[in-house]
Amino acid sequence: MTDARTWLDQVDARTNAATDGPWTYGGQGWVFGPSTEHTRDDDLLATVTDDETGVFIAHARTDLPAGTTALRAVLDLHADDGYGDCTGCGVDTYENAISWPCATVTAITTALEDA
Ligand SMILES: [Zn+2]
Repeated sequence: MTDARTWLDQVDARTNAATDGPWTYGGQGWVFGPSTEHTRDDDLLATVTDDETGVFIAHARTDLPAGTTALRAVLDLHADDGYGDCTGCGVDTYENAISWPCATVTAITTALEDA
């Protein structure tokens, strides 16, 4: 399993290397992105065999960065405080600090195990 932040870096690198967004699905199997040739027409980026795949690909260009940004925000809130405790979880009912990685970080890490 790759570290969650390493995985996020890899996903963001792939996203940033791709054609700028937003992408749109134009129907008839055509996925478009903004024109790169200073023309009025959007560039054809991909052709697909069904509408659902076209909608998925078009939305992935904006959905994926939003998801990685959200995950980074959660990981930033739930960081190691340098003493082995979570910066975002506070204390338990006995006023003991919650250890890091906390349940939130563990849930993210577990979800990314097969990614
Ligand atoms: Zn936490």
